[in-house]
Amino acid sequence: MIKLTNIKKSFHGQEVLKGINLTVKKGEIVVILGPSGSGKTTFLRCINFLEKPSDGEVAIGDYSVDCKRPSKLDILTLRKRTAMVFQQYNLFKHKTVLENVMEGLVIVQKKKPEAARIKALELLEKVGLSDKINAYPSQLSGGQQQRVGIARALALNPEVLLFDEPTSALDPELVGEVLEVIKKIALEGITMIVVTHEMGFAKEVSNHVVFMDQGTVVEEGSPIEIFTNPKEDRTKQFLKRIR
Ligand code: ADP
Repeated sequence: MIKLTNIKKSFHGQEVLKGINLTVKKGEIVVILGPSGSGKTTFLRCINFLEKPSDGEVAIGDYSVDCKRPSKLDILTLRKRTAMVFQQYNLFKHKTVLENVMEGLVIVQKKKPEAARIKALELLEKVGLSDKINAYPSQLSGGQQQRVGIARALALNPEVLLFDEPTSALDPELVGEVLEVIKKIALEGITMIVVTHEMGFAKEVSNHVVFMDQGTVVEEGSPIEIFTNPKEDRTKQFLKRIR
């Protein structure tokens, strides 16, 4: 359902993505691993054109975009079919938790405020924040803020959820609650692409693991293949270092 073909990206003449290919099936949980600076975040952001790829093709469902000549409609369509959960949550600071989640429902999905409120309350219950709906982001822990970020992304009803290191800004004791919520959503069958350093999560939850280094996919496969029987030296070295 998602096909990324020959995705390239350069910054100031330096190629940081060197032609990445990835196919993701509906309902699949894909984890992208790799050393810092290998291009994971840039690749994720190319999927919805937060970064414009220099070359390649992005297809989500039946909609495919030539990265060299994207129209405004192309970019809008890809953005509507995706939602991203950011490392730094990116919540609206002057809106309450409920308003943060309602925003996309009212503005993007054009729902009436009452319908948006009902849907937002349902999503906030799912992420365990029913008791915080009137709080402002600054009154919440990092883990709670990120759970709002997840509810807000789900509100957009995307075909694929993109997670950009969703737990790396959190204090260690708050990582678990966020991973639990992501796990719970994964069980509902929503397609996800997750950039993370959380190996336990990758092993337990993902169906497919992609190892990137220096702007290329070095190796990909099932979690068992990658974690217990990696073939490439660079994968072996990386896994050894982070264990
Ligand atoms: P990772 O997510 O694997 O840590 P990134 O995708 O963040 O890697 O970065 C890949 C490379 O691209 C790095 O060398 C980084 O410095 C560079 N890079 C990322 N974003 C920008 C940008 N906006 N401008 C210039 N260089 C960038």
